[in-house]
Order: sequence, then structure tokens, then C-alpha cells
Amino acid sequence: MAAKRIYLDHAATTPLCDEAREAMQPWLREGYGNPSSLHAEGRRAKDAIDSARETLSDVLGCLFAEVLFTSSGTEAANLAIAGAALNSQGSSRDRILLGAAEHHCVLNTAPLLKALGYRVDVVPVDREARLDLSTLEDMLGDDVLLVSCMHANNELGSINPVRDIADRVHRHGALLHTDAVQTFMAPGLTWKVGDLDADLLTVSAHKLYGPKGVGAIYIRAGVKLKPLMVGGGQEREMRGGTENVAAISGFAAAVRTASAYRPPVENPRDLFLAHLVEYGAVPSLASSEEALRGHVHVRFPGIDAETMLIVLDRMGVSASSGAACSSGSIEPSHVLLACGYSPKEAREGLRFSFGRSTTLAVANDAVERVVEAVNQIRSVAQSR
Ligand code: PLP
Repeated sequence: MAAKRIYLDHAATTPLCDEAREAMQPWLREGYGNPSSLHAEGRRAKDAIDSARETLSDVLGCLFAEVLFTSSGTEAANLAIAGAALNSQGSSRDRILLGAAEHHCVLNTAPLLKALGYRVDVVPVDREARLDLSTLEDMLGDDVLLVSCMHANNELGSINPVRDIADRVHRHGALLHTDAVQTFMAPGLTWKVGDLDADLLTVSAHKLYGPKGVGAIYIRAGVKLKPLMVGGGQEREMRGGTENVAAISGFAAAVRTASAYRPPVENPRDLFLAHLVEYGAVPSLASSEEALRGHVHVRFPGIDAETMLIVLDRMGVSASSGAACSSGSIEPSHVLLACGYSPKEAREGLRFSFGRSTTLAVANDAVERVVEAVNQIRSVAQSR
């Protein structure tokens, strides 16, 4: 019998939790009303969205009216950055700063921002993908409209000191957007807007056991954006398009479940990483302090991630390089390149991301399979 598969790619996406699935069901069956309609079916759907908004604003520690739903974390980040840019077009603040290790949903706004007349500068990061604060300080000035700096890096799992960055950005009168997709509802961390002090914060449901295709944005009261999607005036005229009531309800249920979730005291990640290091893995972070709890990012020098992932997949382990895959082959990670790794090293990055189902026993089983994969790849290389 084939060994049970081990899913270690929770940073890419998580399975839908039962609570989210159950919360979605009524809206996929009898609850088909359009939330913009005035009749009873419409009002019920609108109430469901408002209740979800209440849940998100509660956990974010913000006002009800400061949360808007979008179709994804990507759309939310686009709205934060390009929406701010559209709103301030033609002002003396004509520069936007993006962190070098940001997700592509942030970095790929650059051509649009340039087309709108903005200068876009990339803020360098250190070896662990954290923003270089002294360079940021040098780059900040009265011409900067907005800085975008992610809370945690989705490849390495390192966490940026967003509060400190917000203080620096605000001293220059600029706005801070933080992509909190990897940290929102993550055990042991804060994502409260009062703690982070970002003006714009974006999240996604499918990283926290909610459905795919729904995200949200926190917009601090008083911060002005222009919508990217215009239409029927939904979401306070900031995001046209009939809302996905089922997905939004599932998102809120996943958030409530995550609020109640307590991870085991002993973190299986630590043992897993220690074993990999014994077998020659080089961890990308010097310490697991200030990092995502379920994240392991390593390189096995001399073994490219693509080969490793294919062998691991055959052995029933789903992991990731964290980097983009286009035309069937893995590009060197832009994050590792930004951290100063060579292109060869940047093709070696491997990400294992743990979730609620990753018990100590599962982690032990995964170690054995990873070691077997490494041995197999090394023995093939030696026989050549
Ligand atoms: N930002 C980060 C840090 C992510 O890891 C992801 C997902 O991979 C996104 C944004 C995009 O979110 P979504 O998949 O909801 O568009």
C-alpha cells in the first residue's frame, strides 16, 4: 500500500476547515439572494456579509467600516497600492517604495504605478529577507506616497518589524501598506492594526483554512483610495462586483476557528529542522525567533529544488520552493536573489510549511522521506 501523503505546503494554501465548509453551504443552496437587493433574500445575504465584516474587524481590532472584502489577497494588495496611487495622481508625492522580497502581487504593481506617473524604487532586504531599515530611512522623503512592506515573508518565514517601519514611514508623512497574508491569524503573532500601525493591511482566506478566492483589506479611516474595480458601488463604492457571499461567510468562519485554535506546545518544526541540518541542510534563518511558527526554509547545497521536489513528490511529500514556477521549470527565487544568494543557490531553496495536521509523528515520517530523497539524489549524482 502506498504511504500516506504528507502535505507540507500550508504557506501555499490550506485545506478548507469543516466550520468554513458548513458556513458556506447555505449560501450555495437556498441563500442565493443578491446582497444589493432590497428584498428579504437580498437582506439576508447582506446581513451575512456584515456579520463576516464584524468578525474580521473584531480580530483586526479596527472599525467595522475599515474592512472591505476582495476576491483575493492579490486584489487587496493591488487595491492598497494602486488605489492609493490613483487617488494621489499628480500630487508632489510621486514616489512609491516596494520591499525587494515582497510577493509578486506587490512587486508586479510597478509597471502600473509607473504608467500612472510614479517613480518606483525597490528597498533592499537583508540576508533573511527583512527590510534594510537604514536604507529605507535614506530613501524616505517628502516625495514618498506609500511604502509596501510585508509582515512575514512567504518563502523564508522571516518577520519584519512592521511597527518600527510604520513609525519611520509616518515621520515622513507617507502611508504604509503591509501584506499580512502569511501572518493573519497565525498562532503566537499579532496582526492587530493597533499593534502594527499600518494604514493599509491585506489578508487572504485560503492561508487560514478558509476558501480560495476571497481576501480583505483594512483601510484606516481617513485614508483615501480610488477603486480599481468600478461597477455597482459595492463595498462602499471601493470594489464593484456582486459579493461572493458563500466565500465571505466561509472566510469569517475560518477566522473564528483560527481564533479558538491552540497549537501544541512542542513545535514539530524544530525537530524536523534539526534533523534536516544533520543531513546537510543549511537553514536560511539563523534563528526561529521572529519567524513564522510553521515554516522551514533550507537549502541542500548542490541539489536544486526542482529535482528535490520531484523526488519528494514521488515519495508522497508535498513541499515547495516558494518560488514561481513558469513553463514547467522553477525560476530562481526572486526573494533569495534579493537576499544576496547567487542564481544557483536561489534555485536550491526549499520550503516546508507545517499546518494543524502536522503532528510530531508526521514530521518524523517526513524527515525520513526527505533523508531518503537526499540520499537517492546524491547517489545518482555520484554514479555519474
Ligand atoms: N501575499 C503573500 C505573502 C502570499 O503568500 C500570497 C499567496 O501566496 C498572496 C499575497 C496572494 O494571496 P491570494 O492567493 O489570496 O491572491
